[in-house]
Amino acid sequence: MTWYQQNRRDLPWRGESSPYRVWVSEVLLQQTQVATVVPYYQRFMERFPTVADVSAAPLADVLKMWEGLGYYARARYLHQAAMEIVTQYGGQLPNTYAELRRLPGFGEYTAGAVASIAFGEAVAAIDGNVKRVLSRLFAIQTSVTRQLKQIARELVEQASCLLSLDRQDACPTSPGDWNQALIELGALVCLPKTPRCATCPLNELCQAHQQGLEHVLPLKPVKKKLPHYDVSAAVICQAGQYLIAQRPLKGMLGGLWEFPGGKQESGETLSECLQREIREELGLTIEVEQPIISIKHSYTHFKITLHAFYCHLTEPQTPQTLQVADWQWVTLADMANFAFPRTDLKIIAALQQRD
Ligand code: SF4
Repeated sequence: MTWYQQNRRDLPWRGESSPYRVWVSEVLLQQTQVATVVPYYQRFMERFPTVADVSAAPLADVLKMWEGLGYYARARYLHQAAMEIVTQYGGQLPNTYAELRRLPGFGEYTAGAVASIAFGEAVAAIDGNVKRVLSRLFAIQTSVTRQLKQIARELVEQASCLLSLDRQDACPTSPGDWNQALIELGALVCLPKTPRCATCPLNELCQAHQQGLEHVLPLKPVKKKLPHYDVSAAVICQAGQYLIAQRPLKGMLGGLWEFPGGKQESGETLSECLQREIREELGLTIEVEQPIISIKHSYTHFKITLHAFYCHLTEPQTPQTLQVADWQWVTLADMANFAFPRTDLKIIAALQQRD
């Protein structure tokens, strides 16, 4: 705790006791680097200073604030949870782990972090950093999540008792600080590939370090090779406006806008793929013209190469919402008003360069 007090990074949400702000910061930090999150957090707080502001906003506005950050389900759940907090809890986050867990998007980690940091509840918040620190500290040689959870729970409970007895020293005293200290130690010292054991405040206690296992633990699950898909996207332009489609609201990248298209089936050329996808999604027939850009991108469970092509409608037609939530004809400048995934932002950048 002393190490944490002296070494913690100065972050915009640090020392924050507003449950709403703690919650937003924890959601943004899931699967995302701190440096990436800082400007998103600041913009989010300017646009949505309270839970009520998120609740009252259309989902599209929340997604726009999330644009480029990935894992967009987080934004949808945050929006849903904000609406529930306003309707069921009068705009105040419920103050227990058990109640938080019932809200959309509050998994074990997020509920543990908010309950401990904002409400001082002695519950664990186990992220990848904590898993790594505890696996090494106790030299856990199997990937037993249940064992780690048990250890983390016992530690935060014992630490809270001890800390409440020892208020005269300068240590921070809340379970939230305890959890953040473990997370910070993992982020700054007990690094995945290069643990800095020489300067670690736990080095005399750490069983992995004593046994020379710090580079071996935690044991990593055998990585499966991610499947790769070729995906095509149609850039259909007429009279200076481009056709964009909104993805179905549920599912991957739900509610985001994109240049329509989809995954290449076996035996299909990219042109045939595009013609089929645009017919199935929007009921349009198109001619495929020259390629614009190919973009490689990795998601959690697969990789894609996205091939964007200029296309045109074979005759005047009106799009239909067959497999999309909505569609719009927009200028390049108007695209700034819609939230796109990172891949499509690269297509937009390529179009702007050619404009
Ligand atoms: S001594 Fe090394 S392995 Fe152990 S907790 Fe500290 S940094 Fe991690």
